[in-house]
Amino acid sequence: MDASKPEPARVRTTCPYCGVGCGVIATPRADGTLAVAGDPEHPANFGRLCSKGTALAETVSRDGRLLHPEVAGEPAGWDTALDLVARRFSDAIAEHGPESVAFYVSGQLLSEDYYVANKLMKGFIGSANIDTNSRLCMASSVAGHKRAFGTDTVPGCYEDLEEADLVVLVGSNLAWCHPVLFQRLSAARDTRGTKVVVIDPRRTATCAIADRHLAIAGGSDVALFNGLLAHLAASGAVDADFVARRTTGVRAALDVASALPLAEIARLTGLGVDAIAGFYDEFARTPRVVTVYSQGVNQSTAGTDKVNAIINCHLATGRIGKPGMGPFSVTGQPNAMGGREVGGLANMLAAHMEIGDSEHRRLVQAFWRSPRIADTPGLKAVDLFRAVGDGRIKALWIMGTNPAVSLPDVGAVRAALAACPFVVVSDVERHTDTTAYAHVLLPSASWGEKDGTVTNSERRISRQRAFLPPAGEARADWWQMAEVARRMGHAEAFAWTSSSQIFAEYAELTGLANGGARDLDLSALADMGTNAYQALAPVQWPVRAGATGPVKRFFADGRFYTPDGRARFVPTPYREPQTLAQPERGGEPGTLAQRTLVLNTGRIRDQWHTMTRTGRSARLASHLAEPFVEINAHDALVAGVAAADLVTLTGHAGRVVARAVVTDRVRRGSVFLPMHWSDRFASSALAGALLAGNVDAVSGQPELKHGAVRVERFAAGWYAFAAGYDKPAAPGTDYWAMACAERGWRMELASLASDDGHADVGPALVERLWPGTPEREVLSYIDRASGETRYAVFDGERLVALVFVGRSPVACDRAHVLNLLGQGFGCGPERLRVLAGRAGAGQLDAGPTVCACMGVGRNQILSAIAARRGHCTVDQVGAATGAGTNCGSCRPEIGAMIAAAACVEEVG
Ligand code: SF4
Repeated sequence: MDASKPEPARVRTTCPYCGVGCGVIATPRADGTLAVAGDPEHPANFGRLCSKGTALAETVSRDGRLLHPEVAGEPAGWDTALDLVARRFSDAIAEHGPESVAFYVSGQLLSEDYYVANKLMKGFIGSANIDTNSRLCMASSVAGHKRAFGTDTVPGCYEDLEEADLVVLVGSNLAWCHPVLFQRLSAARDTRGTKVVVIDPRRTATCAIADRHLAIAGGSDVALFNGLLAHLAASGAVDADFVARRTTGVRAALDVASALPLAEIARLTGLGVDAIAGFYDEFARTPRVVTVYSQGVNQSTAGTDKVNAIINCHLATGRIGKPGMGPFSVTGQPNAMGGREVGGLANMLAAHMEIGDSEHRRLVQAFWRSPRIADTPGLKAVDLFRAVGDGRIKALWIMGTNPAVSLPDVGAVRAALAACPFVVVSDVERHTDTTAYAHVLLPSASWGEKDGTVTNSERRISRQRAFLPPAGEARADWWQMAEVARRMGHAEAFAWTSSSQIFAEYAELTGLANGGARDLDLSALADMGTNAYQALAPVQWPVRAGATGPVKRFFADGRFYTPDGRARFVPTPYREPQTLAQPERGGEPGTLAQRTLVLNTGRIRDQWHTMTRTGRSARLASHLAEPFVEINAHDALVAGVAAADLVTLTGHAGRVVARAVVTDRVRRGSVFLPMHWSDRFASSALAGALLAGNVDAVSGQPELKHGAVRVERFAAGWYAFAAGYDKPAAPGTDYWAMACAERGWRMELASLASDDGHADVGPALVERLWPGTPEREVLSYIDRASGETRYAVFDGERLVALVFVGRSPVACDRAHVLNLLGQGFGCGPERLRVLAGRAGAGQLDAGPTVCACMGVGRNQILSAIAARRGHCTVDQVGAATGAGTNCGSCRPEIGAMIAAAACVEEVG
């Protein structure tokens, strides 16, 4: 290195994806590229990153960014756009009242953004119509915490997973959704022999470390945990002293819990009596037990009861607030917790103060010096968009989220957005499914450009720091809202000039008349000043002024935040999950009942939400490049579906076409569909189109785990795979799915047209995908045996596209084909070889990518395993192939492949 050149500045910041909240060291280089590494000093990850965090540098490109404000689709200055937003919101409020406007915000916002949005809506507009996409993520945990503890507190910390003897994971695919926490748990299991129980309808990657997997019927968790509570009481595992002195309501909860005999629990859960009894015994005899739960618990019409059924078991045993013990909700989003803290949900006031508490309202209004204060809860996400749809909401501001994809009953959401008189969207992307509905677009600063704080699942506040200049005219979300507030006549209350000033005000509010009455207290940080804010190290709350030492856990002292200071048992009667609204069944063919499968939706390892950011990374796309549905082999047989077929799922008010993955990972009678694909990446893959929008009555969180779908084979006349150096145009075929690749783009296609002789499809398809390049040279080949046709497109010597068309799903080596793009091929034989679609003799077809970091495919890993006759470790596979040696996110998949190979070897 040239010693005369200064070292690039390293900036400590926080990953913008999941609720683990990993510390990241970002180093922007002079050539415009970015280096990203895990922060070894951050207490959430100690230097680890998962595949998504590792690929962050690939997602900061400015392609596709929203660079300037737009009004009615035309570029506009900030003043013009902000004046219009302020005027339209003010006009709606003047004409129709404060309840006629709403904000729909996001767990991607920083706490400072959230604080300003909440203050503007609840204190100055005077409505509580501010809700967040975190409603879809963990609202049931919030409601369950408040019912049990009197406040929304996660009692424990990540160390508890490392100090427990038993970790129960309920509705949590930790390996894919919170990978670094999974790695911490795996490491602890290796060293101390932690037992792991996974309770999940699917055999997910997390099961790679499970000693026991209970493949529970979707929606039956309450029955299982009610049975556990009854077992704890019957087996003498109850901490009678703790229950008597520190809790109320145990009798009523036990009466309800005892109503279900074991045989009935087995029937409802679909589990064997022995499996249930084994789990109950293990829980009862293990003092150090942590129960981790996530979206599989929360995203349910019984979500809040599920949370309380779990908490009841920890209260009964007194296993809460102590090392290695406690219920532990892990949040999906990077700042879902921060949003809960400032009051970014429609049923909260601010800083863990309550809308329904007149003294809290008085305190907050006086602190804000606001002209009014919301005194009733606002509309929660699903209801909010229904209110947009029926005309009650006249002006809507959406920030940092994509509800036109992510909400259930998404067709109705889109219709509502289309009909809304005034929609503002603040986003970093120009083209999302939601920006299409905006009257005003405001460019927001992205990760790396914005500055503030986030709070992770263990209540740890970390800084997100700016290390890149804003793209175009992008500005912080808080700045946009403050400017609108000023234009609405509230200049004095929104006069901040930096995020540190906002944080100071928020921290002061948390300490207001607190004195230990509220758990959330950041008062020690209120006066720290800008320099200390800039340097702020990750810190867990509470951070009370005058207090000494950190507080890792709550409730060890047995004091809760209820009026009597005791925790509350909550009776949780089992209820059948709601799937479809009944009317949707009417008029369907008589076979529907036999063909209706339970729809479970969720996340995959390498994508985030609606792919607006992770969809930019070829490395991440290489893992699973098209929408897929996991279907049990029995159900596939009944529906006439074979592996790699396309299937149509018909649900509440729409249909999805996805690739069938026939597997025993899902229970008979259910299917799993990822939630990520939007109209930008696939022809029809919106999971939200299949879901009815039923919500939990307490939390308002929508059911995303228990829909009902009919599954049919998509009777394709032809299938195709296309790879192109340039981004293809959307082809208008019945099915397509697109993803970026290292050297270009990849696309899967299919058509229902049976008379569309596939031999003629290729040239027309090339023209549709990459129109208007007449000078290109097209080489074609027809495989008479299979009927497959192949086309290679050259620009001079350079290969710019390859298209394979067949009557069955195309079986070429995609990694090999994608690798050829952009290369030069001079002579005839060389050119013909590219049409083979796979590597030459003696060269291994890498197969679908398993390790995104090191680019290692399934076949390469299987080959390494076979070389050791199935008897090897993940580390040995890593040494042979490189797979699993960087971020480690693929290690569970490699472990599962080794286990499967060992099984085959033994059987053989
Ligand atoms: Fe980011 Fe992965 Fe850490 Fe989650 S686990 S915060 S996605 S690096």
